This record gives sequence, structure tokens and C-alpha cells, in this order.
Amino acid sequence: MIKLLSISGWIAFFLFAACHSASNDKNPSKTDSNTKSVTVKTGYPENVASLPVPDAATILHRKEVPILCYHQIRDWRPTDSKTAKNYIVPINVFLEHIRMLADSGYHTILPDQLYAYLVRGDSLPSKPIMLTFDDTDLDQYTIAYPEMKKHGFRGVFFIMTVSLGKTHYMSKEQVKSLFDDGNVIGSHTWDHHDVRAYKEDDWIKQIDNPTKQLFSITGKPIRYFAYPFGLWNKQAIPELKKRSFIAAFQLNEKRDEQDPLYTIRRIIVPGAWSPATLHKWIVRDFNY
Ligand SMILES: [Zn+2]
Repeated sequence: MIKLLSISGWIAFFLFAACHSASNDKNPSKTDSNTKSVTVKTGYPENVASLPVPDAATILHRKEVPILCYHQIRDWRPTDSKTAKNYIVPINVFLEHIRMLADSGYHTILPDQLYAYLVRGDSLPSKPIMLTFDDTDLDQYTIAYPEMKKHGFRGVFFIMTVSLGKTHYMSKEQVKSLFDDGNVIGSHTWDHHDVRAYKEDDWIKQIDNPTKQLFSITGKPIRYFAYPFGLWNKQAIPELKKRSFIAAFQLNEKRDEQDPLYTIRRIIVPGAWSPATLHKWIVRDFNY
């Protein structure tokens, strides 16, 4: 049922969004090895959640960073529909995407880096890119993570907590190990219901409880959220703010003019995209 929800929801797949995660280390100036390891682990050497947020126009004016969104990484089956193949990336294709990014000199950034760039204008590495993974699929851990690690890449995993420990999904221990190795864990609700329909109890079930569970796994506040199906409305944004999320990721709709940090864009990379197609898109749409 969850898969069906995900599949039917990903009709429009040319999208953007983004995510972020916070760290607690407050000493960005130190360069000893101890500080370096903290920096790697948390993604950024300070707690970006406390940074002042400028007006929306300033954020909207900054050049967008390409943010890729992957779901299942597995070979296509005869039963996979054309729509499904837009978000099921065959294993070899995914490996080629990652190798292309590495060979072309791209650097993965994490949400705290993106956030500090958007709110304070911090500089980013050359050819920045963010890799995000939705829905807790096990192949993200078994296929994507090792290949990314080979190239020094890190990513953001938006977890749908209902799936934790189920067949074909990641376990809590695997999520913890991604986090411990410097990746970011974000929230993707309990069971993938559209935030636009939430009543009060739904905010508790879909957002508050999963946040608590993810915090109990990682020991770090969960600061970044990805909307199920990329769908959001203006009413959802204050609810996310109340719950201490500092940014949220949609797909490819126009960003909100008042709250661009809560409507960061990303694109679902279709399974049919060759590395060359992906590269062309990054260059054409982002000039990176
Ligand atoms: Zn999803």
C-alpha cells in the first residue's frame, strides 16, 4: 500500500526540493582533528538553526543548487509501469550517475551547508550538488550508500518511519549507521500521507511521533523535512516551523515567495536518464 501511494504520487517527476540538518558544535574556527571529525559527522561546524534568516527575496535571489531525489535503486521488472520507471533507477544506471558526478568534479553538500549558504551567503564547494533519498528503501543502504562512500559523497535520507525494519526497507540500525557515517537523516512522515489534508491529530501521528523516533535513533534534532509526493500548501509551513524544522523540500513547483526555505526544490532523477542526460540537465538548468 505504501508503495502504491508512493508510485501514484510521483506523477510529476521533474521536480526539485531540498533538505537540511542541524549540528550542535559551536566552534567553527578550530581546525584540530577532533573538530574536523565533528564537522564531518554533523555536516556543518556550527548550529545553523540559530542563524538569523534574511528576507525571502535575498534567499530567492541566490543561485539554486541542483538537488537530486532518488527512490528505489534496483533493476526494472517486467511488471514495472512506465510511471514507476521514472523513480526506479536500475543499479548500473545509478552507479554510473555517481561515477559521472565524481569524474566531473561535483561535490556533495548537506542541508546545513545549503542552509548557511541560503541564509548567510556562506560559500559552497565548486560544482555543489545534493543527493537525497526518499521512502526508506533498503537498496539506498545496500547499493547507494557504499557507492557514494567510495567517492567521498554524502547524502540526505528522508525516512518514512512506518517502514523501518520491514522487508525491503532499512532498519533503525542501518539508519543510525548512515547518520554515524556523516549522512543526514530527515523526516518524510510516518506513512506518506499528503500534508495538505492533515488535521490536528495527523500532525502528531505523521510529524511529531516520527520526529521523536528519528531523534531517538540519531540523538540529533531532526531539522529537515521532505513533503510526501512533494506536495505542500501554505498552511503546512507554520506547522513545520512550530516543530523546529528549519527547511523543507518539495519537488519542482515554484518556491513560496514568503517561505522559500520551506519549499526548496529538487528533481526526481528518472531511471531512464543516462549519466550524460543527467549531466546535461545540471549544466543547462544550473550552470554548474
Ligand atoms: Zn516519498
